[in-house]
Amino acid sequence: MANKRDYYDVLGVSRDASDVEIKKAYRKLSKKYHPDINKAADADAKFKEVTEAYEMLSDAQKRAAYDQYGHAANDPNFGAGFGGGGFGGGAAGFGFEDIFESFFGGQSGGSRRPNAPQRGNDLQYRIDISFEEAIFGKETTIKYKRKEECHTCHGSGAKEGTEPVTCSKCHGAGAVQVERNTPFGRVMTQATCDVCQGTGKEIKEKCTTCAGTGNETVDHSVKVTVPAGIEDDQQMRLSGQGEAGKNGGPYGDLYVVFRVRPSDKFTREGSEIYFNLPLSFSQAALGDEIKVPTVHGAVKLKVPAGTQTGTTFRLKGKGAPSVRSGYQGDQHVTVNIVTPKKLTDKQRELLKQFAKESGEEIKGNDPGFFNKVKDLFD
Ligand code: ZN
Ligand code: ZN
Repeated sequence: MANKRDYYDVLGVSRDASDVEIKKAYRKLSKKYHPDINKAADADAKFKEVTEAYEMLSDAQKRAAYDQYGHAANDPNFGAGFGGGGFGGGAAGFGFEDIFESFFGGQSGGSRRPNAPQRGNDLQYRIDISFEEAIFGKETTIKYKRKEECHTCHGSGAKEGTEPVTCSKCHGAGAVQVERNTPFGRVMTQATCDVCQGTGKEIKEKCTTCAGTGNETVDHSVKVTVPAGIEDDQQMRLSGQGEAGKNGGPYGDLYVVFRVRPSDKFTREGSEIYFNLPLSFSQAALGDEIKVPTVHGAVKLKVPAGTQTGTTFRLKGKGAPSVRSGYQGDQHVTVNIVTPKKLTDKQRELLKQFAKESGEEIKGNDPGFFNKVKDLFD
């Protein structure tokens, strides 16, 4: 005991190494020093040392004791609860599962039962809705194909009037013992039964509807209530509307994803709707009463005289509802003053008069554009 190396040093990991790191280090070293692979004189001792270190550090309770008491925790007389006489049995009893996993891809684990009930797959369905439908919601029915339990055999896969029988090869266990050649010699290991594919049941005569699979692909339809106020890319889960499970497991879910088409009039952020209102200079200067479109219908808006471009008016409650809180948003109307691109002679004359009245001296475009640019830089 006196010359025992520190278990963390043996595995070459730090004292705060994770379980995964410890396992990885052990796998690497146990392969390196396994006496059947490594013929060096000290391989056997090294292998035992590595295995002992792993046995201690891979068990949370033992590791905690080792961290606190060091190698004393390993003494058969130390405390209780460390069970069964320490490591006298050598390498035989433990660690082999891990070694097999690394050589055979996890076949010896036996933790996955192929005949256990399994939940069905989830499905996703996209619904395209208009800008207005997203705000007001709607009822719709969607149709899609999904795997359902076969209606003829009710999922058993056996022909009508017959039942699956206990597998003749594995007697229902789903797994069989096979002999394999390994770097350690010939060993017995477990493999999934090839007759029943691990289900433990054999189907003598297959159901003709589903060819023995136990499920069939059918057209399925579901009523969907599009919630008022839904936003682009939001989704809704419809429990049990996905695919059939296996071995009597439950159906998966359906995720309905909403795609909201943009509006050519409005933009929306959450429950707020935005609208750009083009106004002429005269309307903005003199003030006007204008019918503004909203998703709830046209609304009269009084634009006061002297309104500036960029001014925003709020139409209370004319936005979208919030799906979560039910809060009703507003519509924000932003004024955009539009300069006329063409003027009649009379309009031009009146505007010149207007400018003169305002004390401005405007040359206009008539003497040429360059004069105006030149003026700007004078
Ligand atoms: Zn069937
Ligand atoms: Zn079988």
